[in-house]
Amino acid sequence: MATPAPKNPVVVIGGGIAGITAAVEAAECGANVILLEKRAHLGGRVARMHKYFPKLCAPYCGLELNFRRIRENPAIAVHTRAEVAEIKGQYGDFTVKVRLQPQMVNANCTACGKCAEVCPVERQDHYNYGMGTTKAIYMPHPMAFPQRYNISQKACIGKECGKCVQVCEYGAINLDARETVLELKAHSIVVATGWDPYNGAKLQGLSFGVSPNVISNVMMERLASPEGPAKGKLVRPSDGKEVRDVVFAQCAGSRDENHLPYCSSVCCLASLKQAAYVREAAPDAKIFIYYIDIRTPGKYERFYRKIAAEPNVTLIKGKIAKAEHDPETGGVIITAEDVLAGKKITRKTDLLVIATGMQPAAQNGVGGLKADENGFFTNAALARGIYAAGTARLPQDVSSSIMDATAAALKAVYGGRP
Ligand SMILES: Cc1cc2nc3c(=O)[nH]c(=O)nc-3n(C[C@H](O)[C@H](O)[C@H](O)COP(=O)(O)OP(=O)(O)OC[C@H]3O[C@@H](n4cnc5c(N)ncnc54)[C@H](O)[C@@H]3O)c2cc1C
Repeated sequence: MATPAPKNPVVVIGGGIAGITAAVEAAECGANVILLEKRAHLGGRVARMHKYFPKLCAPYCGLELNFRRIRENPAIAVHTRAEVAEIKGQYGDFTVKVRLQPQMVNANCTACGKCAEVCPVERQDHYNYGMGTTKAIYMPHPMAFPQRYNISQKACIGKECGKCVQVCEYGAINLDARETVLELKAHSIVVATGWDPYNGAKLQGLSFGVSPNVISNVMMERLASPEGPAKGKLVRPSDGKEVRDVVFAQCAGSRDENHLPYCSSVCCLASLKQAAYVREAAPDAKIFIYYIDIRTPGKYERFYRKIAAEPNVTLIKGKIAKAEHDPETGGVIITAEDVLAGKKITRKTDLLVIATGMQPAAQNGVGGLKADENGFFTNAALARGIYAAGTARLPQDVSSSIMDATAAALKAVYGGRP
């Protein structure tokens, strides 16, 4: 006999690939689901990737399929700009208090873009990691779901400007919107709050935030993307000059007791993938990857071998000790060790990409749930009925996050033990 669907909904916190997967899987098992995302759109970090390793396909194919599963399933309610303030109760009967940031643009928005045309304020483009700007009213990115403009409260002048309100033919903008609080009942909860890139500015000597041509691996995803700030051209952020020499610094923060003591598990693969971006954009460009060990477990070994064998790709065992702005060329001078050759290397490069690791986004906890000493949620430490999934639980790639989230969804619906 089939187990009946739970009376109360499953609440999923975090609308990245893990949270989206948990939501659609739980709903397709018959549960009502409420998906809470703190940003204005779903997709999390993968919505900001150019391509996925190992197939080098666009993440939006998979995301779009999942968005369709959400759109077509009335059992899933999505709240964006939503953050959990408090979780109380027990398995089957939790109460979740949620703060909803003001929705100044409502569902009437047709994404025509006239509001952004008249908006007088520019702000840093968060989606592109600060490379470039948008207007204070902006579409987060061309494929955003929900496909709706969003207003940066920090940047918007407010009613004394009001140009966007005047030009909107659909009455979609309300600059008076205020924060509201929701109280939800939940049968069970999936925590899928994901990761943030480690702040490269904390890595002394690598000049991140000092030289514009030292960028992080997540910035490289945007730089390589045709929808990114350079329209997919591989150029130096400082002056738009084409890049002919790129250096990758592995373990930028990860596996370091002073920063992130764990391996972030995907950074070697991410840099190998980004080497493929460079090969595609500029086949003659020289690529150097400085590593401690290359970690590409299981099925990814073949991808590593393939990229490592490509012309102009050189892997060097050794850490980059220093990176400085080169006043002569405008590029970056790196100082590193080559462990196997037993020598010190100084090299002038156009672009240094630091492979910053994954830091849990909700490292200080969420709604009173406590994370472990590294900021991850451990299922064994969570109460019955609360399950962590994806990179909120441990650093992992997309396919592992999807499997993890599917398992969490089944436990959330059928009452599994952590
Ligand atoms: C440079 C780089 C490249 C990568 N490339 C690949 C690749 O090519 N292939 C691959 O398989 N993997 C890749 N990965 C790994 C991949 O990014 C992760 O596996 C994936 O993002 C995990 O998804 P997630 O849903 O767990 O987390 P996220 O993508 O971080 O999503 C979490 C979501 O939760 C939201 N959130 C956070 N806190 C809260 C809160 N308190 N309340 C509500 N919402 C909240 C966030 O806004 C976000 O939308 C890469 C990683 C890096 C660092």
